[in-house]
Amino acid sequence: MKPTALVAGNWKMNGLAASQAELEALGTYLSDGAPADCDVLICPPFTLVAAFAANAADGIAVGAQDCHTNTSGAHTGDISAEMLKDAGATYVIVGHSERRADHGEGDSLVKAKAEAVHGQGMKAIVCVGETEAERDAGNTLDIVLGQLAGSLPDAATAANTVVAYEPVWAIGTGRTPTVEDVAEVHTAIRSALVARFGEAGNSFSILYGGSVKPSNADELMNAANVNGALVGGASLKASDFNGIIDAYRK
Ligand code: PEP
Repeated sequence: MKPTALVAGNWKMNGLAASQAELEALGTYLSDGAPADCDVLICPPFTLVAAFAANAADGIAVGAQDCHTNTSGAHTGDISAEMLKDAGATYVIVGHSERRADHGEGDSLVKAKAEAVHGQGMKAIVCVGETEAERDAGNTLDIVLGQLAGSLPDAATAANTVVAYEPVWAIGTGRTPTVEDVAEVHTAIRSALVARFGEAGNSFSILYGGSVKPSNADELMNAANVNGALVGGASLKASDFNGIIDAYRK
């Protein structure tokens, strides 16, 4: 089965109730524009997941940006996958580099979070990516493939898991790897998925993330083994996000 293309917006710690206007505008773009050959997902902050899920136009899925490994319990300030599902989420991002860096999350925790997401019948978007120092040292593939091996549950399938390659140095910086560099890493991820999951590894969607914007989306989305984008800054405005979705309107 061919991977499903996905354009996913990660709003990070941005968005208030009034931001629902952007969700509505995105719905209008999607219904008025030419059909896009991709799935579309918005991951707002926790506070907006339920409202967005209740109000998103057809064709827009709603997800969250993190979850706890447990279903419930004494974990002040945390949110469980079950709560997110209850709020209407269908995807959860796990292992984003900002979680790995700011909260010290390692591969085994990321894997446990992905398992918690799977346990609720949702899709986990598992993020991997090298820092600038790791790239400069020539360790990109070792780092990325190591994170992939450690963060993906054995029960991962194309139906419950999406992989996102996000070079840390490209996130929010306006810098992107060359298309050749993106293709090299995505092709290495694809090979690792096939080595681990057999032929089924060819069906996983592998997103690129890091300073994707309307002006570079077309060439990045056409790189080998790129099956969509995980978008931060440019997902906050419906017009920009729609301009990225344009890469899938042919
Ligand atoms: C992200 O945080 O997942 C991301 C890709 O951010 P940006 O698009 O702003 O680089």
